[in-house]
Amino acid sequence: MILNRDSCVAVVGAGAMGSGIAQVAARAGHRVVLVDTGEGALNRSRVGLTGALEKLVGQGKMDALERDGILARMHWTTDMAEVAPARLVVEAIIEDRAIKSALFVRLAELVAPDAILASNTSSLSIDEIGAHIPQPERFAGLHFFNPVPVMKLVEVVPGQRTDAMVTEALLALMQQWGKVAVRVRDVPGFIVNRVARPYYAEGFAALGEGIDAAAIDQALTGAGGFRMGPLMLADMIGHDVNYVVARSVYDAYDGHTRFRPQPSQQALYEGGTLGRKSGGGVYDYGASLPQPVYVTPGSAPDSIGVSRDHQGLVAIVEQARQAGLAVIVAEDLPADTLRVGEVVIALGDGRPLSRRVEVDVLLDQARDFGAAATWIISAHTDASAAAAAGLADRLGKQTLLLPDRPGLIVLRTLAQLANAAADAVEDAVASAQDIDAAMRFGANHPEGPLEWAGRYGHARLAAALSHIADETGDAMYRPSPYFGSVEDLAQ
Ligand code: NAD
Repeated sequence: MILNRDSCVAVVGAGAMGSGIAQVAARAGHRVVLVDTGEGALNRSRVGLTGALEKLVGQGKMDALERDGILARMHWTTDMAEVAPARLVVEAIIEDRAIKSALFVRLAELVAPDAILASNTSSLSIDEIGAHIPQPERFAGLHFFNPVPVMKLVEVVPGQRTDAMVTEALLALMQQWGKVAVRVRDVPGFIVNRVARPYYAEGFAALGEGIDAAAIDQALTGAGGFRMGPLMLADMIGHDVNYVVARSVYDAYDGHTRFRPQPSQQALYEGGTLGRKSGGGVYDYGASLPQPVYVTPGSAPDSIGVSRDHQGLVAIVEQARQAGLAVIVAEDLPADTLRVGEVVIALGDGRPLSRRVEVDVLLDQARDFGAAATWIISAHTDASAAAAAGLADRLGKQTLLLPDRPGLIVLRTLAQLANAAADAVEDAVASAQDIDAAMRFGANHPEGPLEWAGRYGHARLAAALSHIADETGDAMYRPSPYFGSVEDLAQ
């Protein structure tokens, strides 16, 4: 069952995924047979792979000798029988259960009885695909991410009947290929396509409430620390993929999820405005992209008041000191509150501004207030918004004003991602560590959702989620039992 560099690897399906998998396998030293039914697909794959290697050589990331070695180890063919010597066959054909199932029955006849068979399916059940394979113990899911040579994550998905040694062999091989391999139970969406869903759903929910798209995306990048905002990312992925995956995962769980497919995205999908690929989606790619409208800062303060308990605001207070502001501890301020002149600015805790007595401005959470480029606020008046923006400006940050809403947008998104990740641990989908790794290396999140939850504090997070659930009346925000009960907070 041991797979090593000398093992021949076959990949079936020479599309975007199969070609990428073949490239990574050949780079790791394997002889690779890449099979497709279409000559055209094989030609595109050969040209594409040669070009990709050429680029790497041009960039100095690969030497010519290595490129030649990879190409010498590659073999493109339409003859399925050529998979025979393979110790591992990875299937990356069309996403259709019956067609995949039939292919595996055929592959099982062509390779040695102990050769490993794996599917790169994103959305189908491993147990269902493998239902008719002779020796089903040698079959598992091996879910790569696009583009395969770049994305580090591979989800290794044993089915009910997969031999533990097969799973171990695949995990070890993926490490040899330079991947981050995580073990995942055979559930709809595996880890990434399940846990990442609230990122998009929260963005589209805010869009559906009429919040400016550019502000939403800037909130999640500038304060949330994500590389790309949810709306722009969904435009890039394409709503035909992103919305359809959301719908299929939601349906597969009968709606017992931490997200709902959003009407604002459904409308784009049904209207054929699929994102960048169709020239328009949330944004119009024929025009220059809209920029968020920031609050014009009021005058910069010389001093600020801060509550004695300001654990959530430590980074801001530190920056204020470094900026030369006098920081005065004000005993009359409730926890995690600042005062600029007469304006009281409170850190959000899930409750909307309308529920905060004697608070003028509510400040949304940032993943890291030290690194954040943007403050997200809600305010009762323009004057109090300007006062908060004056302080932010003094600290080198820009401020976006959002309508008042429970959990505003960054805290709500981070909290619901953590909630989805916590559910996955509770459902024994994967370990907390693997879920965090999956979200970092499969979805490019800056930090694992449970890592963030640990930093934020489980009891504090449970309380914030409860506030959001109470205020929205939406049970999908109820905290996962993983975070403990809200009552724990009082103890
Ligand atoms: P693709 O359409 O680019 O390529 C599929 C290839 O399979 C085509 O070249 C087609 O000619 C070939 N093919 C179809 N039926 C075949 C058969 N019976 N025998 C041999 N070749 C056959 O698709 P893709 O985007 O590369 O996706 C392939 C698989 O990977 C799907 O299961 C998909 O769900 C999964 N996946 C895709 C992504 C992604 O982002 N594209 C990510 C992870 C997993």
